[in-house]
Amino acid sequence: MSIKIGVIEGDGVGPEVVSWGVSTLEAVSRDSGLEFEFVKAPVGGSTYLETGKVLPEESLAILRGCAAVLKGPMGRPDIEAGVVERDGILALRQIFEQYVNIRPVKLFRGLEAASPLKDALLERGVDFVIIRENSEGLYARMGGMTATTATDINLFTERGVRRILEFAFDIAKKRGKKLVSVDKANVLSGSLYWRRMFEAMAKSHPEITCSSQLVDSFCILVLQDPSPRKWDVVVTDNMFGDIISDEAAAIVGSLGMSPSANFNPGGLSMYEPVHGSAPDIAGQGIANPLATILACAMMMRYTFDREDLAVKIEKAVQKALDEGFRTKDICAGEPHCSTEVMGEAVLKYLH
Ligand code: ATP
Repeated sequence: MSIKIGVIEGDGVGPEVVSWGVSTLEAVSRDSGLEFEFVKAPVGGSTYLETGKVLPEESLAILRGCAAVLKGPMGRPDIEAGVVERDGILALRQIFEQYVNIRPVKLFRGLEAASPLKDALLERGVDFVIIRENSEGLYARMGGMTATTATDINLFTERGVRRILEFAFDIAKKRGKKLVSVDKANVLSGSLYWRRMFEAMAKSHPEITCSSQLVDSFCILVLQDPSPRKWDVVVTDNMFGDIISDEAAAIVGSLGMSPSANFNPGGLSMYEPVHGSAPDIAGQGIANPLATILACAMMMRYTFDREDLAVKIEKAVQKALDEGFRTKDICAGEPHCSTEVMGEAVLKYLH
């Protein structure tokens, strides 16, 4: 029986990169025992202009019937800031209780020149994963604004903190058994609550080396030594996760190389590139499709528990880079190729 995959093309470069994600999933599923059926669910800025709704009921109904979702970036410069984020991206995360955001930070071989860090700092490689709490903190949408005051409540609940930390311990167990929690416990009570729970839970995981780091120190330390000897799994709250994962994406060369997952361990999860809709390059055929292709690897790993297929996709990406294919964002001044040429190169190695 075929497995339904929801496809949200999104806005800007979204359709250009998502089509390569679909091709990747088609290619990797061949002879794998998995058979995918792709169903489009229009959501985002263009959908809003066409229908008056960012997330129409019909799209929601389609997504509810899917096993996983491949999502493109959303947002258009001709729509007021916040509308698509609130009614599309944040709404989807809440409806499907995707309380975990997973962001791998991996430097692919050959992309050292695209990183702003010196070569010596990259010698040992970069390969860690950021687990970001995805439903609470400053994104709980509690607060408001008057003419003279604005507040945002930084919400931390026992249920919310415990479940994200449990997830992070679980991932640490499967990876390098090293977990760093990032907070601001010297100033914020929510962070202090988080740190106390982290330290209490660490006692039940003696096999994992656990430590806490203040977010400001983390931002410096990760630039001084981004290597696997220092970082393997990093867990943090919603706001800090948003910031440090963009910093980490820059370390590994480009937003165009960074995938992510909005994950619900018992429900529907959504896989997407970290980058936005990039209206400045939309329609030019030069967007890097690798973040979306790598998001498909995450889908294989986390929703379908197919590490073999995830690794197959990641190896195909590495081979395309080894062959010298570079889109403009990662070319570091060298000649670059189009979205299509890069997509075809990866597919060639998948077949
Ligand atoms: P958002 O707020 O929606 O996350 P943003 O304004 O932070 O978006 P992006 O849309 O991600 O930014 O674009 C930031 C820069 O990165 C732009 O110059 C854009 O062209 C570039 N960029 C983003 N995605 C890609 C990609 N896939 N390939 C090449 N360049 C990209």
